[in-house]
Amino acid sequence: MSKQHNILVINCGSSSLKFSIIDPHSEESLLSGLAECLGLAEAKISWKYAGEKFNAPLAPHSTHTDALTFVTDKILADYPQLKESIQAIGHRITHGGEKYHQPTLITEEVIGEVEKLFELAPLHNPANIMGVRAAQTAFPHLKAKNVAVFDTGFHATLPAHAYLYPLPISLYEQYGIRRYGFHGISHYYIAYKTAEQLGKPLSDLNMISCHLGNGASITAIKNGESIDTSMGFTPCEGLVMGTRCGDIDPALLIYLKQKLDLSTEETSNLINKQSGLLGLSGSSSDFRYITEHYEQDKNCRIALEVYIHRLVKYIGAYAMLLDNQLDAIVFTGGIGENSELVRRLVLEKLTILGFELDQQRNLAARFGNSGEITTEKSLHSAYVIPTNEELVIAKYTTAFFAA
Ligand code: ADP
Repeated sequence: MSKQHNILVINCGSSSLKFSIIDPHSEESLLSGLAECLGLAEAKISWKYAGEKFNAPLAPHSTHTDALTFVTDKILADYPQLKESIQAIGHRITHGGEKYHQPTLITEEVIGEVEKLFELAPLHNPANIMGVRAAQTAFPHLKAKNVAVFDTGFHATLPAHAYLYPLPISLYEQYGIRRYGFHGISHYYIAYKTAEQLGKPLSDLNMISCHLGNGASITAIKNGESIDTSMGFTPCEGLVMGTRCGDIDPALLIYLKQKLDLSTEETSNLINKQSGLLGLSGSSSDFRYITEHYEQDKNCRIALEVYIHRLVKYIGAYAMLLDNQLDAIVFTGGIGENSELVRRLVLEKLTILGFELDQQRNLAARFGNSGEITTEKSLHSAYVIPTNEELVIAKYTTAFFAA
């Protein structure tokens, strides 16, 4: 058992709650799990402890609070030392708006401010606050020890020319319409790890970070700071994703709304839930399915081709923003970490930038392995680095109380 200074990290979706207890010093995850289908009859929970996996049904229609109470009263009842070792709770909060960039101690005032941002992140922030409330109820003795880490925070350094949309400026001034960017916790982790890998200070690092999961975003990092990122006002902009369309002609929405008489909700579902890989393939949002079927299924092939085309276009554009100082491109997220196919197809298109793929290394980098996937001769390096957002949240939370 590790020292008594562990952090509980909580990441809530509208019907899910991910939790992990992390030792921020050894960087070990001591217990982790996921409560799913919250609010539904089939609510359930699964967890991992000491390499073993467990699962249990939750009471029908369990809430986020019920799930976390199950964690404290049932799961942790078997490991009292682990329960007592939790010193603070770190929360992933999706949207910090322009107000919150740094990790922030959660008070009622902060909750009120995050609630004001609900309209900017209606799918995420309300669920995040449910997680905060659940933690306050399930761990009342740690009520003053809840910290918010914002997924927009790393992108606070975007310059105005990257975050402003060419819309009337009053829309930014009055309503905060701008690019915020997301996946910041992951992009920061990747930057930090890449600097470590290259043996240079983060403040000298120039790179492109590709977070390719169900959601996907790419960030240009100059001198260790985010200078442009593909997600925008919402996480729908940018790359092709599992079910989100990424960049489309904005006027298309007006046309479709009229042509198909779509309601606001139907329009939102169209671009957030029925598009991307799922929309193009007509079969699945899961990249493993696309990989297994693209040779025989022409819709899967075109989904793959659009996916790669978009990604290459963004990398090319972002390389131009780094003033000839590109240290590395890094792939992360479920697809970035596991798909040799995506990495190969992308890097084969980047020879003009001086990248040379080492396919043996590329094949070896999967299932949690990290490593360089370019040859010794390659002008720039490409790496696979598994992301670890929970660790970043745990470290920030610890640092908050150490300061
Ligand atoms: P989330 O954004 O939900 O955290 P993940 O980062 O877990 O998503 O990524 C999920 C994606 O990773 C899915 O599209 C899945 O198919 C893909 N993926 C996972 N393993 C592989 C693999 N071995 N090959 C290709 N794609 C994979």
